[in-house]
Amino acid sequence: MSRKPIIAGNWKMNLCQSEAKSVFEGVKNFVKDYSAQELPTIVIAPVFTSIAAVESVKCDCGCGCNKISIAGQNCHWENSGAFTGEISVEMLKDAGCDYVIIGHSERRQYFSETDEMINKKAKAILAGGLIPIICCGETLEQREAGETDAWIAGQIKAALEGISSEDVAKSVIAYEPIWAIGTGKTCDSDEANRVIAMIRNVVSEVSGAEAADSIRILYGGSVKPATIEEQMSKSDIDGALIGGASLKADSLNEIIANTMKVACNA
Ligand code: 13P
Repeated sequence: MSRKPIIAGNWKMNLCQSEAKSVFEGVKNFVKDYSAQELPTIVIAPVFTSIAAVESVKCDCGCGCNKISIAGQNCHWENSGAFTGEISVEMLKDAGCDYVIIGHSERRQYFSETDEMINKKAKAILAGGLIPIICCGETLEQREAGETDAWIAGQIKAALEGISSEDVAKSVIAYEPIWAIGTGKTCDSDEANRVIAMIRNVVSEVSGAEAADSIRILYGGSVKPATIEEQMSKSDIDGALIGGASLKADSLNEIIANTMKVACNA
């Protein structure tokens, strides 16, 4: 099966409302010249306080804004209640989100998120009708110790535990080696493809071949306009989760354009 590529920008803790609006408008102006068939699935994850600002520049005028989906960068698994500082799937949906990034290594590392929490979040997101982008990845120490595959297989099995094959099929996974995030050290694309193919095998084991064939698995870690073509030319890499290079419309647009050269129906 051919899987539609995804280009997802994770803005992390950057871009206040006016800045977010301006980057979003820059991407919107670029995509207006292409049909949804030509474009990859485009997802942007602003900070929570900029979601409404970005949503406000979306409209139904055919200008291209409906070709960009919005993601939350995190969520809680409960619908509401006494969880100060948290946000629910229902609230993200209400704000206009279609996707939620979960299990990012920065959340795991700085906010002590566990595999069990990520599994609960994935279930809540799918139950709420949104799509989880489940992140996984190893540290440099784990890679040097030869633990990469076992570590990532464990993260994926834990994240997908108890989720139906149908729901797994529509989910998204992002393989983000921690040592490649924000460092400028992009993972060799053959190696990224090898790990992603390994993840697909794990998905096949736990959720069946059909889900493994459908699920989109992205690479993340210092993706730039100059790296994306080679990454997208690999058999198992279905797109990218981009941090730094997604903060400016010009570089994100170049990544989208270069993706279309190799991986879309353009
Ligand atoms: P960079 O693209 O800045 O390396 O960030 C990757 C990332 O963490 C996306 O979620």
